[in-house]
Amino acid sequence: LLIDRGFRNDMQTLPIVCSLCSWTGILNIYQNHLDQNHQNPTCDSCGQKFNSVNDLDRHIQYDCEKTTVDCPLKQIGCQEMVLRLHLAEHYISDQHQRVLVNFVRQMDSILSTNMNNNSLINSNQRTHFDVNELEKISKTTNILLDNTKTLADELERLSIERNRIHNTLQSFIQESSILKKSIEEQNSSIDGIKFNEQISEQDLLSVEQKLNNMNLDPYDGTYLWKITNVQEKIG
Ligand SMILES: [Zn+2]
Ligand SMILES: [Zn+2]
Ligand SMILES: [Zn+2]
Repeated sequence: LLIDRGFRNDMQTLPIVCSLCSWTGILNIYQNHLDQNHQNPTCDSCGQKFNSVNDLDRHIQYDCEKTTVDCPLKQIGCQEMVLRLHLAEHYISDQHQRVLVNFVRQMDSILSTNMNNNSLINSNQRTHFDVNELEKISKTTNILLDNTKTLADELERLSIERNRIHNTLQSFIQESSILKKSIEEQNSSIDGIKFNEQISEQDLLSVEQKLNNMNLDPYDGTYLWKITNVQEKIG
């Protein structure tokens, strides 16, 4: 392909802005700028490095999951911007579904109006709608509408199910915390009993000790105590 030399020269001197930084210059030296400053351009969103600006551009336009993108239905009214990663989630969100349903309804009503005005289409040669084609489209949109409704019903059912599980879980958590509390109370009363036992054991020991230490007259026949540690006491 031979581009007119004059035209090509004009192109080469067009002022442009670098797509990767704030550099401005003419196309003629843009390639130089790219080679010198953007050898391994990096994706701002995900940090991946690329061999060329073209690869990076392709990555951002089609692949990067961390890049924020418009909803593909922006044209028909879904203004949401989401990370590419979250698109699938967005498609089943209430907002997106509502836009979709509204659009399909609109299409459906336009198509049925057009079909009712069948004669109008026939008389108007500029309209190139084929009635059979319209009927097919209408059927398709009805099927789409049904599917969307089924999906919406399913979402509703899931949401109810989720709430039910949530409530069950909530009451389970409550019950188990009550149970836990009563176990704790039992434990503390068991501890109390143990404590009392320890005290009375100690009491017994000290009473025994006292008795052992008593300087009983061995000739007085009234008390016959077993005297322990005789050696120690005598010594
Ligand atoms: Zn640049
Ligand atoms: Zn990326
Ligand atoms: Zn959307």
